[in-house]
Amino acid sequence: MDLVIKGGMVVTAADSYQADLGIHNGQITHIGFGLTGRQTIDATGCLVFPGFVDAHVHFSLPVSGLVSTDDFRTGTIAAACGGTTTVIDFITPERGQSLLEAANLRRAAADGQAVVDYALHVTPVDAGPRTLREVASLASEGYTSLKLYTTYPAIMVDDAAMLHLLELAREHGMMPLVHTENHAAIEYLKARFLTEGKVEPHYHPLSRPPAVEAEAANRVIALARLIGCPLVIAHLTCRETLAVVEQAQQAGQPVYAEVTPNHLLLNDELYDLPDFEGAKFVLSPPLRDRSQQSILWQALARGTLTIVSTDHCPWTFSAQKQRGRNDFTQIPNGAPGIETRVPLLYSEGVGKGKLTLHRFVDACATAPARLYGLFPRKGTIAVGSDADLVIFDPQQEVTLSHTTLHQNVDYCPFEGWTVHGYPQTVIVRGQIVVQEGKFVGPAGWGQFLKRQPFSAV
Ligand SMILES: [Zn+2]
Repeated sequence: MDLVIKGGMVVTAADSYQADLGIHNGQITHIGFGLTGRQTIDATGCLVFPGFVDAHVHFSLPVSGLVSTDDFRTGTIAAACGGTTTVIDFITPERGQSLLEAANLRRAAADGQAVVDYALHVTPVDAGPRTLREVASLASEGYTSLKLYTTYPAIMVDDAAMLHLLELAREHGMMPLVHTENHAAIEYLKARFLTEGKVEPHYHPLSRPPAVEAEAANRVIALARLIGCPLVIAHLTCRETLAVVEQAQQAGQPVYAEVTPNHLLLNDELYDLPDFEGAKFVLSPPLRDRSQQSILWQALARGTLTIVSTDHCPWTFSAQKQRGRNDFTQIPNGAPGIETRVPLLYSEGVGKGKLTLHRFVDACATAPARLYGLFPRKGTIAVGSDADLVIFDPQQEVTLSHTTLHQNVDYCPFEGWTVHGYPQTVIVRGQIVVQEGKFVGPAGWGQFLKRQPFSAV
């Protein structure tokens, strides 16, 4: 064996047990006792988790003249340091651009740069004949998920296009992930606030209230029911949308939902911080009022909310966010989070009794791998799975700060928060990429992942 991890507590979505893990040629080949190999890591006192999967990140995302600040290199270094060994980003074409061309550009930006493994969701922005052909061809090449938007003029699709794309998704086993907000309602509310001179970040959440999210989710779930297609509701934030999802799930419809650490842990009082600091938290759907958080945690614990992703999309506070200084609608939407997801969910979730250890692993690793055609290669610890592993010290205390994190941005939404428990050593396909919290991996170690269609799960 190339590498043996000795003496740790192995934790999966289903089990925890003391064992050594043997790794050969990038895969887990042995689980047992007294294993020996060319290299040994002593994991005594540590938890050994499967490498975590962040199924919603935006590296180098262009939005109206600005580009999000983490690229595939810096963003995946930050991911690795935070215990994430697989990320799923997006192929988002310009309107009229070929999806295949957009896919090739994205691959060129990632290959040789990413240091953890990556996959790409396909974002069709229309349902014309060329798009339908190209989506089918991408599905056959292992791009087995779609991202669809009900808002943002550059990329949104209407209900007619949505129906065609959901039908295509069903035929080709592609899991649709849908951003659900009612576009007309947002435009109406934004225009009304601006006319009244209400330009501060305070009005960002008021322009996208829970009803806006729940209406679009309800509509998209109804369309998926018509077509007979499963779907994932992206970044669900509130009890109103949760009620819609829960009703569909109880009726037996395969509807899944994603939640972010931001919505679990932060609230809309932050928009009122002085000196425009509220802009740091302008993301969509927005942070909600404090009462929503315990509701989201409970839904995550029981599995109504299926997975935790970050929607990592950093913009600098000192420059890019300032664009909206006099008009909140011009603030680029998004916040960093790829590096802090796992420590925050462990510390605030498992540490505070809101999640079991197994549900934590499931929501952050196993369930996203299953939903998006990566299981059992990713998302678990089993013989034959990739040796993506996180050796996690449950005792280590870390105070989060943008000055020590690796995310390429000048702030952290959780600045000053102390987490209990942190990744020590992170392994991607048998290669140590993080040691004692420091990135030590080879450049460009990450591979593109061809994924299985959802019917194969
Ligand atoms: Zn997103």
